[in-house]
Formats: sequence, structure tokens, C-alpha cells
Amino acid sequence: MHFITSFVLAFCSLALSRADDWGYPDWDSDTVSFPKWGELCDNGQRQSPINIDSKKTLKGFFDPLVFENFDDLQNELQMVNNGHTVQLTGFDDDLVLRGGGLLNDYVVEQIHFHWWSEHTINNIRYPLEMHIVHRNTIYPNTSMATQFKDGIVVIGVLFHASPIRNGAIDKIVGNLDSITSASNINKFVSVGNVMAFEELMPSADNYFTYAGSLTTPNCAEAVTWILMAETVPVTFDQVNMFRQIEHHNGKTLPNNYRALQELNDRAVVFVEGDISGAARLTGSLALTLIVLLASQKFLL
Ligand SMILES: [Zn+2]
Repeated sequence: MHFITSFVLAFCSLALSRADDWGYPDWDSDTVSFPKWGELCDNGQRQSPINIDSKKTLKGFFDPLVFENFDDLQNELQMVNNGHTVQLTGFDDDLVLRGGGLLNDYVVEQIHFHWWSEHTINNIRYPLEMHIVHRNTIYPNTSMATQFKDGIVVIGVLFHASPIRNGAIDKIVGNLDSITSASNINKFVSVGNVMAFEELMPSADNYFTYAGSLTTPNCAEAVTWILMAETVPVTFDQVNMFRQIEHHNGKTLPNNYRALQELNDRAVVFVEGDISGAARLTGSLALTLIVLLASQKFLL
């Protein structure tokens, strides 16, 4: 009996330690090599993040993306240090994404950050990347959604270095102190400042989209990535506040981005929105010019 109890306890603690037994290398170290996270993370063919080479993207034109409730003020927002990132949950309403190339409605499950960015554009890395993780509403929960190709949509927002503080990011990092310590891992705290997510969003007119994976174990290849082409500002001071959070061994987490993955035979589509609007504008400008020239000729 005692043996069985010990065995069960040992097995459980093994399972627990395995669950947290993944992490990021300190890229500042000389001997950096990216750890193996197992299974799909090591042998998948549609993995994320990737470098986006804008010269090799394919042009796409989709209906506009529709964001429902992203302008709602969030009063009950919660924040947690899960040992790998800072994550936001507890949304007042369902934040719904539809349109674009999506065939179903997707609802936001959680929002988190990577410092420095996971995706690079033309080999340039950004100081911060926000991931808005959505679940396809035809699946009842995230774990089931991750088993299907159309299960998850992640919107990636890149932040560029700027001397100007990002007001919306300040609302988040202003509360980081209470979750920084490793002893507070998985402890949810309230984000004191009311905010709407559109405050963190750039224009959604232009974006890159491709089929990829979660960038953390189990690296499920269930993700339609939508990476906004427009970036938003953040200061290094603000990013450094994220870098102070501690992970499981009590060390700070100076970075939490996964190594770039091979593109393999995937296409990256560059979607340019509002082309018809731009064309209309160009057309009407040309018409105005013709009218002006004609009237001038008439006057002469
Ligand atoms: Zn992420």
C-alpha cells in the first residue's frame, strides 16, 4: 500500500514537473541552443514563429476583419504570471473576431506577451509581441480546438521601439509588481486600470497570414496566424518591466521567444485592405485633375 502511494505520488510529481519542464534559453548567454520541447515542437512541419520575408509573400484580398467588443472597456481584467509569460483573462464580454479569410466566429480566450518578438519581418526582430489567442466557436474548449487545423486564430501585434511610452501598455506594466516574484506564479491579480483592447491594436487593414502552430508546447499545428503589418510603439523601459518577471526557478525571464521555424512548403499571404477605397480615391483625384485641366484649356 505504502509502495503504491509512493509510486502514485512520484508519478504525479513527475507529471507536474514535466508540465513546467520547458523554458527558453537566455539568448545573452554564449552557449545558447534552443531546447527540445518534444513531439510536434521538434518534428512538426507547420511550426511558428517564422521570419516573414515580405518579398516572398503572396498577395491576397479578403473581406475586412470584424472585431466585436474590442472597444468595450474591460472592468474585470485579470493578469497572471504563469512562469512563461504575462497573460490577461477575465473579459467583460465575448471578444469576437470574424471576417477576413475566416469561415467561423472566433472568441478570445487569452492575451499574452513575448519579449522580444517571436516573429521577425525581413529578419528584423521587434522589442515586444502581443498574442491574442482566439478559439473557433464551433469547438467547446481550447484543448479540443487545438486538435483541428481551423481551431485557433492568433492575432500577433508587433511593438516597435519608441521614445514615446505606450499608454495602454503602462496600464498593464503598472500592475506587474504584484506578480513578478516566482512565489506569485499562477496567482491572478486584477488589472486596476480600465482599458479597451482596441487601445493596444494597430490598424487591421494590412496583415500577413499563414498556417502555423502554437509557439509553446505542445506546439499544436492548429493556428491561423494573423500578423498585423502596422506596428505600435513601446519604450525599452516598458519592455524591461516585463523582463523582470521570474519563472519557476526564481530567475528572471529576460526573454520568452521561441527560435524561428522553417517555412517549408507554406505560403504567407499579404492582405492589403481597403484597396477599392484607395482605387476610388485615386480615380476621383484623376477625374478632378482631368476636369481641372479641361477647364483650364477651356479658359485658355
Ligand atoms: Zn504567444
